[in-house]
Parts: sequence; C-alpha cells; structure tokens
Amino acid sequence: MDINDLQRENIKNLKPYSTARDEYKGQASVFLDANENAFGSPFLNEVDDAGDRGIQKNYNRYPDPLQLDLKDAISKIKGVPIENTFLGNGSDEAIDLLYRAFCEPGQDNVIILPPTYGMYEVSANINNVEIRKVDLLPDFQLDLEGIAEAIDERTKLIFICSPNNPTGNSIIRTDMETILANFKGLVVIDEAYINYAKQRTFIQELTEYPNLVVMQTFSKAWGLAALRLGMAFAARPVIDILNKVKPPYNINQATQDIALKALENIGQVNEWIKITVAERENLSEQLLALPMVKKVYPSDANFILVQVADALGTYNSLVDLGIIIRDRSKVALCEGCLRITIGTTEENIKLLEALKSF
Ligand SMILES: *Cc1c(COP(=O)(O)O)cnc(C)c1O
Repeated sequence: MDINDLQRENIKNLKPYSTARDEYKGQASVFLDANENAFGSPFLNEVDDAGDRGIQKNYNRYPDPLQLDLKDAISKIKGVPIENTFLGNGSDEAIDLLYRAFCEPGQDNVIILPPTYGMYEVSANINNVEIRKVDLLPDFQLDLEGIAEAIDERTKLIFICSPNNPTGNSIIRTDMETILANFKGLVVIDEAYINYAKQRTFIQELTEYPNLVVMQTFSKAWGLAALRLGMAFAARPVIDILNKVKPPYNINQATQDIALKALENIGQVNEWIKITVAERENLSEQLLALPMVKKVYPSDANFILVQVADALGTYNSLVDLGIIIRDRSKVALCEGCLRITIGTTEENIKLLEALKSF
C-alpha cells in the first residue's frame, strides 16, 4: 500500500511554502531574513519573570515550524519517534488537514460511525467530501459488515473514535485491527479519551499498519483545551504529507512553551486521571440509584452517557440551577440520553443533589 497514491493529485504535485529559516543551514546569530521586529515584543516588558517560568522571551521571532523541542518531549513520554508525530492547532486541525490532503472534493468519500464526534462530519461538509454513515450497533460496537458494504474505491478515510464520544465505550480492538488490515485507505483512530481507558493505545502499532493514524489531544487529560494542541501519530509518509499541507507556523510559540512546561508535570496529570476514573465509577453508581435514571452506560472516558425518563426536562432543570450538561437525546441510538462530564468531587456532589431535588 503506497500512501502517496492516496493523496489528492494537487497535493501530490504541491510545492510547499518555504520559510525563511528553511533556506539556510548552520549557525547564525543575526536574523534579518523574516521581516520580524528585531527589537523585541511589548509582552516582554510586562512579564519580567517570563524566563523564570520557562517561557521564551523572543515572541518577536517566528516559532519552529516543526516544533522539534516539543515533539522531542512528547516522544519521551509516548515512545513514538519525532518523525511519526504531527502537531495540530487542536485535533480539529489534523482532521481538516486529512480531508484536504487525501479527499478530492465532490469525488472521494469517508466513513463515519454515528453516534460519534461531530467534527468529522462538519469538516467533511466544509471540504465538500461525501460522508457515508454506518451506525454503531446497539451495543455501540462496529458494524463490520455495514462498513465493508459502504466502502468503495473512492473511500479514503474511516474515522473510529475509541473511547467513543458521546457513548463513552472503547471499540473492540480486534474489530479495529480487522479494518486496519483490510481497508485500503487511512484508518483514523481518535484516542482523545485514551488516558481514561482500560484499553491500550494504538500508537505502538504504527510500524504494523502504514494506513493507521492515531489522534490524541492536550484538551482532555492534559487540561489544556484552551491552548488548542492536538497530536497525530502515523507512519512517515502520512506525517510528511500533513506537514506539507499545514500552515507553516500552525503551532504558536506560547503554545509550544506552555505544553513543554506541562509535559514536565505528568505526575499531576496521572493523579487527576486516577481521581477522575474513581469519580466516574462513584457517580455512575449514585446516578443508577436515582429513580429518574433508566440506564448508565459503562464509560472508558471522562464522561458518562445516562438514559433518563425525561432528558430535555432534566437538562433544563439543571440549567436553571446553573449546571450545564449535554443533551444528546436527539442523537441516533442515544434516545433519552444525557452526557455528563466528570467534574471535581464538589461539582459531582452538586449535580447529584440537584438531580435528587427534582
Ligand atoms: C474533545 C475531543 C477532541 C479534541 O479536539 P481538540 O481539537 O484537540 O480540542 C477530539 N476528538 C474527540 C472525539 C473529542 O471528544
């Protein structure tokens, strides 16, 4: 399987933008090549201790287009080589770039597996790429036969979200392996919630499958949703194509600096993951004891899907108390369901008390 043949024709022939700093090799100390402000940035004057906090001071300079320092730190934690790592302005950028690089608008198609994350469809619509929907089975697992029937020679991508949003379950690993081994396009496994799962990540299988793309994010367990930083891991040809198509400076310097600092603190992240999983199990149990709750779906994520007697009514009553959850009751296979993010212990207690008061 040659990934380069999967690209759109115009991308195959694309001559990428060459940045000022791509064009010299070796050491330099005077940079008069990129029309930057050589004096500095006003930010520096306000934040005297920026350096002490490990934040770079030279925001007047364009950032590293390939984010090598940050990728190096990610590589040390994930065990994935730098050349198999792509960083995007959120996973959302990686999703969009996959469409732009591999899907010919108006001709190619992709497969999504509802109920699932909304951006796969929105991004397809923006890029004018046909979506083929193969609903998950009632147990929220893959309909392998349905997927096989939906695939044709113009199917470029299949998006599998595991653990899945909004259902919370992990997809059976052997089912994903079946698709990886048989599908002739890219299989995108979105592991945004993998840190909360019992299931193993797929990033160890990159050498096994040339068509595997694993997406992870700093928005969930890493607590950095505001930064907009997503990761995609894949074999070298896929990463090279994404790098060719991305905006040259897609990850800004502040994001690179803050993410690097965060990666030094993985102990804190692991601690929060443990607490979140414990809270998830506790909240699930307590919700199940409420008369209004019909079903609590098992979750491998930092949220739970809950079927209640009156979803919209419950949602609105919570809003009146200033507690916001997600009403998913109009989503296929999620009739009567609410999606509840696991909060702090105090927040979860507030939610339970509110529900008990209705
Ligand atoms: C939250 C979430 C993401 C994260 O997207 P970012 O753009 O990285 O914030 C990705 N996929 C799924 C399924 C999610 O729920």
